[in-house]
Amino acid sequence: MKQVDGQKLLASLGSGVDALKGRLTPDAPMDRVTWFQAGGLAELMFQPHDVEDLQTFLKLLPKEVPVTVVGVGSNLLVRDGGIAGVVIRLSAKGFGQVELAGENRIRAGAICPDKYVSAMAMDNGIGGFHFYYGIPGTIGGAVRMNAGANGGDTAERLVCVEAVDRDGNPVQLSKAEMGYSYRHSAAPAGLIFTHAVFEGFPEDKAKIRADMDAVRHHRETVQPVKEKTGGSTFKNPPGHSAWELIDNAGGRGLMIGGAQMSSLHCNFMINTGHATGYDLEYLGENIRQQVFEHSGVKLEWEIKRLGAFMPGREVVPFLGAAED
Ligand SMILES: Cc1cc2nc3c(=O)[nH]c(=O)nc-3n(C[C@H](O)[C@H](O)[C@H](O)COP(=O)(O)OP(=O)(O)OC[C@H]3O[C@@H](n4cnc5c(N)ncnc54)[C@H](O)[C@@H]3O)c2cc1C
Repeated sequence: MKQVDGQKLLASLGSGVDALKGRLTPDAPMDRVTWFQAGGLAELMFQPHDVEDLQTFLKLLPKEVPVTVVGVGSNLLVRDGGIAGVVIRLSAKGFGQVELAGENRIRAGAICPDKYVSAMAMDNGIGGFHFYYGIPGTIGGAVRMNAGANGGDTAERLVCVEAVDRDGNPVQLSKAEMGYSYRHSAAPAGLIFTHAVFEGFPEDKAKIRADMDAVRHHRETVQPVKEKTGGSTFKNPPGHSAWELIDNAGGRGLMIGGAQMSSLHCNFMINTGHATGYDLEYLGENIRQQVFEHSGVKLEWEIKRLGAFMPGREVVPFLGAAED
């Protein structure tokens, strides 16, 4: 059942859209965008050609239309009722570049894969970026999520971020203004990051290469990287590992519909074939309940859940969980 009407929204924007260079797609299937390959439609997807195009679009979009930005969807669970309003997906042409930006500095577009930043750093003997080699997202997602792994994180390397606000105005934020904590940034929710500048340190290329290989080897051994997954489902609560809490509560391998807690890494949720957004979220809430009953710890979602439930298929957060 279709819950959004992208054609109607597109028509309501009038002839102003003719000046845009990017692509507009009404009723865009989000299961083609997310790693989970599940979820409903985006009412209208816009893929801006460049920063100017993004600004033009936001200025013509009525203020009441909600805007959601996505990267490559490696941390997203989209609900089956879809996403109302506009979903922005930056184009590789305008936002995918990575370049040197001074001594030990790298500037990357927000849709640039984290991996490319790692590779650029290695090629130029800049240390501190090997952890990005194992994260399958983009720089925009990394900057929003404070993505990190293998002892490094985005906050440690970031210098500043360029963004566009909901009104289409350019904004610059320093690292301090990003308000970073574990897998979280306190930067205003409506910002669309377009570019970021990072700084590393001089390091031997062979050492960087070895660190990157170790990252890849470790992932391929302990994570279901070839599955339809969203990475770590829950944040590690202070003093605990989420996977250990899930394992001890009997969650390893637990399956609801087509969704399963991976047997290989039980904090990774996987779509075994035809999981819906409902299956995935319902499984996640069941796991939170089980862990709470077993250990008294309230797990917090790391995966971002977006969009609306299908009527009659709402997932109620488990009793005792803080709403998030
Ligand atoms: C196999 C696997 C392994 C993973 N391992 C790790 C890991 O080790 N460490 C880790 O931290 N994460 C990991 N992840 C999760 C994920 O890759 C990261 O969170 C990544 O940073 C998300 O980037 P993305 O482009 O996929 O963003 P999306 O999933 O598309 O979006 C994530 C969030 O970022 C926001 N966002 C995206 N782009 C922008 C932008 N341009 N401007 C503003 N907001 C934006 C979205 O609105 C959303 O809130 C893993 C995921 C998978 C599937």
